[in-house]
Amino acid sequence: MSNPQATVNKLLTWSSVDGPGNRLVLFLQGCNFACAACHNPYTIGVCNDCGDCLPVCEPRALTMQGGRVKFDADLCTQCDKCTDICPISASPMVRRMSVDQVIATIRDHAHFLTGITVSGGEATMQLKFLTALFAAMGEDPALSNLTRFVDTNGHLGAKGWARLMPVMDGAMLDIKALDPALHRDLTGQELDKTLRAARLLKDAGKLFELRYLLVPGVTDKPDQITTLIDFTRSLGGQTRIRLNAFQHHGVRGHALDWPPMQRAGVEAVADRLRAADTGEVATPALYL
Ligand code: SF4
Ligand code: SF4
Repeated sequence: MSNPQATVNKLLTWSSVDGPGNRLVLFLQGCNFACAACHNPYTIGVCNDCGDCLPVCEPRALTMQGGRVKFDADLCTQCDKCTDICPISASPMVRRMSVDQVIATIRDHAHFLTGITVSGGEATMQLKFLTALFAAMGEDPALSNLTRFVDTNGHLGAKGWARLMPVMDGAMLDIKALDPALHRDLTGQELDKTLRAARLLKDAGKLFELRYLLVPGVTDKPDQITTLIDFTRSLGGQTRIRLNAFQHHGVRGHALDWPPMQRAGVEAVADRLRAADTGEVATPALYL
């Protein structure tokens, strides 16, 4: 039987902030967006083995073997110098994991879990692995009770969603802006695919929540929140919205000139959404 592999940046065996309940979270490497406000920019690129990061790795955790960069986790001091220097926002500290390997890890922790979330990067870029993993979980009597969620920017075409949705329980869909020009500015990509994904997921009953990042003076303006309310209403019924607050942690480039989003500003937006009765509104527990 086919056992697809994924390039994995990180695997967390427990998280309470990546979907409902206690979740194992798999962060896949590679993203088709280039978000100015990305908190994990080293997950965007896919390593091309150029070797530029080898000289900055003082403990020699990185070596070139047969033209490929090899990473030795036992030697790594997690200084992040390699990801800081990488010219394509990639990371050499990734590993290839097969569906069978991930399933074995989930089994080891299943007792404590509500489900798993596959995040990124952009999880749907490794669609073959993702669908095979979710299908394998559904067919495994020890794991079929766990929910299968994806955290996504929505840039997957209708055919891709048609493959994924039958084996997936829910999606957390990031919408960076609802103005097409601003969305292009903030992500480097068009907005329409993400909006189409929201409608597809909603119609299939698989839209767990919309996630909206509030950046002061950029995405929190009253007219933008009105557009968010109008779009959410247009989906029909109630839709949960999670408001995220822009912070500087992990961010690179010109977005560091933007001020962090404060609690009072988030609560003001949350109050507007609640008054509009679009659905449950979740706000950050911490502002770091
Ligand atoms: S992680 Fe970046 S710098 Fe290092 S080898 Fe890969 S592409 Fe080159
Ligand atoms: S984070 Fe690890 S692999 Fe990267 S430069 Fe530092 S020690 Fe080397």
